Amino acid sequence: TNFTELGLISPLLTRLTEMEYQQPTPIQAQAIPSVLAGRDLIAGANTGSGKTAAFALPMLQDLFTEKKNSTKSKGNYVAGLVLVPTRELAMQVANSIKSYASHLNGEIKTVAVFGGVSVNTQMLALRGGTDILVATPGRLLDLISSNAIKLDMVKTLVLDEADRMLSLGFTEELSALMALMPKQKQILLFSATFPEQVEALTEELLNDPLEIQL
Ligand code: AMP
Repeated sequence: TNFTELGLISPLLTRLTEMEYQQPTPIQAQAIPSVLAGRDLIAGANTGSGKTAAFALPMLQDLFTEKKNSTKSKGNYVAGLVLVPTRELAMQVANSIKSYASHLNGEIKTVAVFGGVSVNTQMLALRGGTDILVATPGRLLDLISSNAIKLDMVKTLVLDEADRMLSLGFTEELSALMALMPKQKQILLFSATFPEQVEALTEELLNDPLEIQL
């Protein structure tokens, strides 16, 4: 398989060529067409598998394509939400998404928010909303409390490193956040391991997901 066969649009393909990605990793080859088609996904995947591009590319394509056909004003909303366990991962994922988006004419705004730093800069960055938000759960809840962002318009939710998120004790934050999102949305869950807690979350949240176990 090559990236062209996966159904990706040319501004993304151009970027992948520039980045010298010669062919999709197994998780990308399996996930991208299905995620583009709107299906939920559960994937057993470690760092190094190429999981970030597996969710970032279809999410960017969906939001970019939708944006061209819409004139809706935004407000303090986010369309693509990526929840991650740590600040390091938040920064890393946001940088990858921004890099993949470099030929999308600046149409897709991506913001990262995480704890341990001042909330003010993040509040400013969220003004007018954002297309994609990469967030740790605690800081995201804080920002919602201060009305800096609203989850009512979330279309795609990514749970990255779900096992670490739960083992770090984010279970309650996660349910609080889920309650603020629309019921109808696409969910993509990535986890290195599948302990009972993750299985339970999967059962509860996902709707007929494609399952990829590498
Ligand atoms: P990840 O598992 O998403 O953290 O990605 C691990 C590393 O692999 C990152 O440095 C990516 O830039 C790189 N990468 C992801 N997909 C590909 C690909 N198809 N070809 C070459 N490198 C890739």
